[in-house]
Amino acid sequence: MIDIQSMNRQEIADIIDENKNEPSEELLRAAVKVRNEHYGNKVFVRGLIEFTNYCKNGCYYCGIRAENGNVNRYRLTEEEILSCADEGHRLGFNTYVLQGGEDTFFTDKKICDIVYKIKSKYPACAITLSIGEKSRESYEAFKDAGADRYLLRHETADNAHYRKLHPEYMSLENRKNCLYTLRELGFQVGAGFMVGSPYQTSENLADDLLFLKDLQPHMVGIGPFIPHSDTPFAKEEGGTLPLTLTMLALTRLMLPKVLLPSTTALGTIDPKGREKGFDAGANVVMPNLSPVGVRADYTLYDNKICTGDEAAQCIMCLKERIERSGYEMDMGRGDSLVD
Ligand code: SAH
Repeated sequence: MIDIQSMNRQEIADIIDENKNEPSEELLRAAVKVRNEHYGNKVFVRGLIEFTNYCKNGCYYCGIRAENGNVNRYRLTEEEILSCADEGHRLGFNTYVLQGGEDTFFTDKKICDIVYKIKSKYPACAITLSIGEKSRESYEAFKDAGADRYLLRHETADNAHYRKLHPEYMSLENRKNCLYTLRELGFQVGAGFMVGSPYQTSENLADDLLFLKDLQPHMVGIGPFIPHSDTPFAKEEGGTLPLTLTMLALTRLMLPKVLLPSTTALGTIDPKGREKGFDAGANVVMPNLSPVGVRADYTLYDNKICTGDEAAQCIMCLKERIERSGYEMDMGRGDSLVD
């Protein structure tokens, strides 16, 4: 029995080391069992709308960082965002994730208007925002406008490691505070981190799990770090499939009721990555609903997949793929069972 919930930092780091080159059958089986106890074999789908790739921040790992002059920058208009939601509704989606860089063009008022309009048109849907660090007042306004969920990966729970990944004007303390505030305000909250980001140690990953244990988020986004050629980390190594699967499985054991996406990044480093993610305890996928013309410009990392089964338009292919691997696709709101 892997009793991760009662382990200390060193014990967790040891388990990570033991499984980093290949997650053990015992670990994967335990994660799947726990996931099945709470969610069965359902895989929940969310429509991802990447509505702006402008960003004021300079995270060293991210392809859309402010300093990258090679990005073809775009912003969707309110009408375009609403038609993505219409398209999603037509395809059967009941939840939309609006993600973007930290783009000051989108004032709180603009975001609230968009959320309010989607919610008024599709009252049964759940809306997730993923637009970075904001003030408590902004988060409150988004909630009042109808936003249900908020994704904000903490990226790393260790301060020294955080400093190696971000410019000095950003702070881990602020990011963590944002997460606790969002939780307090009643959002379903998603935290998360990259696996194999530069300078990351097994102890850092153990700290990520301990931070999640404390925060008790409703969702956790975990994917491998993948270098982007126009960033300071262009020459760094990427995160591996086995270590990512190990971290998914350990997160499932740490937070049995959490919603755990099998991420696009995982699907990018291995053609069967997402299926392998399900077999490590994941139970969410987020196909791309952004307009086809802008998809290639939301390049957080090199070779990001955005067509084929990754496209929301190919929802039937995705359904088949999910079913072929022994799961059942669920297009409902898919609320988290975490309180
Ligand atoms: N601006 C929003 C959304 C960020 S993009 C925010 O601050 O939350 C969503 C996620 O992509 C990030 O949180 C990060 O974990 C991930 N990401 C960025 N660059 C990446 C890379 N090179 N490889 C893998 N994941 C990356």
